[in-house]
Amino acid sequence: MSDTGPRLPATAGARVDSMTLRVCALYPDLMNIYADRGNLLMLQRRCQWRGIGFELTSCGIGEELSPAAHDLIYLGGGQDRDQLICARDLVERKADALRAAAGDGAVVLAVCGGYQLLGRSYELGRGERIEGVGLLDVVTAREPGERLIGNVAIEVELDGERPRVLAGFENHGGRTRLSEGQEPLGRVLKGFGNDGASGWEGARTGNVIGTYLHGPLLPKNSWLADWLIATALRVSPGSLPPLDDALEDEAHRCARRAAGL
Ligand code: GLN
Repeated sequence: MSDTGPRLPATAGARVDSMTLRVCALYPDLMNIYADRGNLLMLQRRCQWRGIGFELTSCGIGEELSPAAHDLIYLGGGQDRDQLICARDLVERKADALRAAAGDGAVVLAVCGGYQLLGRSYELGRGERIEGVGLLDVVTAREPGERLIGNVAIEVELDGERPRVLAGFENHGGRTRLSEGQEPLGRVLKGFGNDGASGWEGARTGNVIGTYLHGPLLPKNSWLADWLIATALRVSPGSLPPLDDALEDEAHRCARRAAGL
């Protein structure tokens, strides 16, 4: 991802240059492992290169989340200890606003520890349990066995688009199970996914997406970054002006290769 040079080709796209993507990062200090913050940088650059305005707000412990103020809400990965700190605040202070924002069409993207917190609960063992916000109908539990660690590739089909590959890296002790009727984000091609057994990875309900893929996720999968930007701006992904993605495509190929795909 280069910061310089002409990024906008002559092809005209939608009049997105008058738009602004308003992003809110939840708990950016505590929920940011494997440089998940890079996902925000990716969104910012791809907006900037297209002349789309970009506003980034953070919302931490004790702060109110305003449901109408954001087009995209982001929650990164975290250690169990940091998840515990955030979970109570998330459920008690922000869950209603988060539900209202999602109900109103805002995109919610959560990675790993963030994904677990969007579910119903995370059972840590030793009697410790974290309540989630229940935006995704999944439950997570620590179980005997190794952490699920490694490069991962999944196949994803979003809104009738052709199946695409998401590639990344996973490292989680929790095993996540989808309730009946809960759509997964994708099908595992390589790696463990939600629980290492079901063949599913992540979960998706409309514009709310949870996934175990770090990487960070978006720099390795620029097509998903564009889908998120377009969906959050309520335009079709095909109407975003294309960018020169030579480097991004190479990053994607490397991530796929690392996963053995
Ligand atoms: N603490 C959670 C687990 O181990 C999530 C880890 C992560 O975000 N990488 O399952």
